[in-house]
Amino acid sequence: MYEVAIIGAGPAGASAALFAAKAGKKTIMFDNGKSITAKAWVENHYGVDPIEGPKLLESGQKQAEKFGTELIKQAVDSIEEKEEMYTITTSEGSYNAEHVIFATGMSTKLAEEFGLEVVDGIEPRVAKIIKVNEYGHTSYPKVWAAGTVAGVSVHTIITAGDGAKVAVNVISELNGKRYVDHDIMK
Ligand SMILES: Cc1cc2nc3c(=O)[nH]c(=O)nc-3n(C[C@H](O)[C@H](O)[C@H](O)COP(=O)(O)OP(=O)(O)OC[C@H]3O[C@@H](n4cnc5c(N)ncnc54)[C@H](O)[C@@H]3O)c2cc1C
Repeated sequence: MYEVAIIGAGPAGASAALFAAKAGKKTIMFDNGKSITAKAWVENHYGVDPIEGPKLLESGQKQAEKFGTELIKQAVDSIEEKEEMYTITTSEGSYNAEHVIFATGMSTKLAEEFGLEVVDGIEPRVAKIIKVNEYGHTSYPKVWAAGTVAGVSVHTIITAGDGAKVAVNVISELNGKRYVDHDIMK
């Protein structure tokens, strides 16, 4: 059983996975390779030299894997709630998790099939988003959303930041107190 399962390994999902795995949480992340970031040339990501989208995606996923995130490059076909945990199914297997973070970018298909409340998007070219509160929490217990699909501005620094914000809220809920991840210069 995983403590955190993340659907989508774009800036939002991979950033959430990095924080969750680095906090020692058993973390799994799924991705079916349809990130809009793959088309981007990014010059406005604070502190990062100009970078091609595919390289930013790869580097983010590597950071998450470095701390133990399991990356499954498959589409999530369905999610079911059973006995206070969620069963996530792909074409090749099923995985159980306590918390689930939707970071599916422009796609609300899986969220709608699962029964999450979806509303109109406000950002340009974003038709629909998952309804969340200020913590990134949806109407389902232990189900969260981050990044483009949660309605934030569609920029890598903002979606990655939102993924980190939501992960800190999930980790804090798992730990029963607010979580901080600060490393100091050696
Ligand atoms: C042409 C273009 C240029 C851009 N240029 C810039 C720029 O210069 N600067 C900037 O800041 N931003 C830019 N962006 C925007 C940037 O790419 C997005 O802001 C953002 O990073 C999206 O992050 P995300 O994680 O929310 O979504 P995404 O990066 O789209 O990631 C969502 C992931 O979820 C996966 N997924 C969805 N459903 C499933 C499922 N059922 N199972 C498994 N995986 C699933 C998808 O495959 C995808 O990889 C650009 C976008 C485009 C299209």
